[in-house]
Amino acid sequence: MQVSHYLKVFPFEERPGQLLVYSTKKASLLLLKEDIYRSIEKGTLSRADEELLLKHEIIVPDREEEKRDMYGRLDKLNAKGSMMNVSVFLNMDCNFSCVYCYEGDMKGKLYMSDETAGLLIDFIKEKFTPGRKSLNIDFYGGEPLLSSGLIKYISGRLKSFAGSRGATYTFSLVTNGSLFKRQVAEEMLKLGLKGIKVTLDGPAEIHDRYRPFKSGAGSFDAIIRNIKETCDLVRIGIGGNFDRESYQGFITLLDYLEREGLTPDRIYQVKFGPVMKRPEGDTSPADYTDGFMSVNEPWLVEAGALLREEVLKRGYYTPKLKPLPCQVEVKDYYVVNYDGVIYKCPAFIGRKGFAAGNLRDGVRDYSDTYRTGIWKNEECIECVYLPLCFGGCRYMAYVRDGSVNNKDCKKPYFDASLETLIKQDIKYRRKG
Ligand code: SF4
Ligand code: SF4
Repeated sequence: MQVSHYLKVFPFEERPGQLLVYSTKKASLLLLKEDIYRSIEKGTLSRADEELLLKHEIIVPDREEEKRDMYGRLDKLNAKGSMMNVSVFLNMDCNFSCVYCYEGDMKGKLYMSDETAGLLIDFIKEKFTPGRKSLNIDFYGGEPLLSSGLIKYISGRLKSFAGSRGATYTFSLVTNGSLFKRQVAEEMLKLGLKGIKVTLDGPAEIHDRYRPFKSGAGSFDAIIRNIKETCDLVRIGIGGNFDRESYQGFITLLDYLEREGLTPDRIYQVKFGPVMKRPEGDTSPADYTDGFMSVNEPWLVEAGALLREEVLKRGYYTPKLKPLPCQVEVKDYYVVNYDGVIYKCPAFIGRKGFAAGNLRDGVRDYSDTYRTGIWKNEECIECVYLPLCFGGCRYMAYVRDGSVNNKDCKKPYFDASLETLIKQDIKYRRKG
C-alpha cells in the first residue's frame, strides 16, 4: 500500500502529534496520529488501520495506477450520472440597473417565446432518458420572475413528465429578490421550487449604489422585506458580489441580517464571491459568480477567507470545498438561452463561437469549442489539486487570454488558502 498521490497533509496545532490529512479526490478530511501516517510508508500498518485508510482513499494499492485512473475519472462520473441539470435564461430584461451588469447592450425586451419553451420541454424530455432519478432547472434572467408565466408553464409540464418516470423535478430561481412575494413563493412551491438565490451587494448604502431599481431608487429594503416574508417557506441563499473596495462591507451586512432576525435557521446559505473582470464587450449574464475563485490575486485569497470566516462564525452554512469540475465537463448539464441557443456555461452566453447547438437541431460536438479534457496532461495529473480543479474555469482563461486554449491554473490560490479553508470547516462544523 502507498500514500495516495492526491493528499495534502497539515499539522494540527490544537492536537499535537496529530495530522490533518485531506484527500482532494474525496474532499474528505481525516485526523490521523502522526505515527500511523509514518507507518504507511514503513509498511507497518495494522489491518484495521489499513482498511480504514483504504476506504477513505488515503492509501491506494499503487500510486502510479491511481494517477493513470484519473484520466478516466470524469468519464466514469458522467456515465454514472442519474441527474440532469439545465440552466435556462428566460429573458434579458430586468427591473434593476446594476452598475456591473454583464448583460450590457444585450439587455432589453428579449424574452423566451412560448414556441421556444415548447422546444425546451421536448429537448429535456429527449435527453432525460429512462432510469434517471432527478431533473433540476435553474431559472435565470435578466430577472426570471419577469417571465413567471413561463416558469409555471415549463415547470408544470416537466413536473408531470418527471413524475411519470418515477423521477423528481425541482427548480430554483436566481433572482434579484424584488418580485419574490409570499404568493409567488406559494404558487411556485407547488410546482417544484426548491430554493432561490438572491444577491445582496453589502449593507443598504453599498447595495443600493451597485444594484438600484431602473428608476434609480434603492432596492435593498424591498428585497429584505421579501426575504422575511418567504424564508419560512423557501430555502433562501444569499449571495453577494464583492470587489477589493467593497468586501469589508459584507461584515456589516452579516451583522444587519442577524439583527433583523434573518438568522441561520431562516437563511439556507450565504456565499459571497468576487466580481470578475470582464473582457471588452462582454455579454455574459449577471449574477453568475461560480468559478471566480480561480483568481489567484493575494487580496482575493485574503478577502475570501475573511468573509468565509465571518459567515461561518455566525452559524450560516456556506459550501465546503469539493471536487467540482468545470460544468463544460459535465455531460448532463446544458445552458439554454432565451432564443433557444444551447451553451455549456452561463458565462459564455451570447459569445460568438461558443454555441453548443440549439433546441431545434440538438447538441453538437463541443469538445474543441470548450476544450474539454484540457487537464489531461502530465502537469495536471501530477498536481495534487487536480480533483478540485480539473484545469480551472474556461471563462477565466478566456477573460485573461482571449481563448480557452490554456488552463486556468489555481495552484497559487490552493497553496494559499486550502489549509485555512479546511481549518475553518473543522472549527465551524455544520451540515455539509
Ligand atoms: S467556464 Fe466552467 S468553471 Fe468557469 S464559469 Fe463556466 S462552468 Fe463555471
Ligand atoms: S490547472 Fe493548475 S491547479 Fe489545476 S490541476 Fe492543472 S496544474 Fe493543478
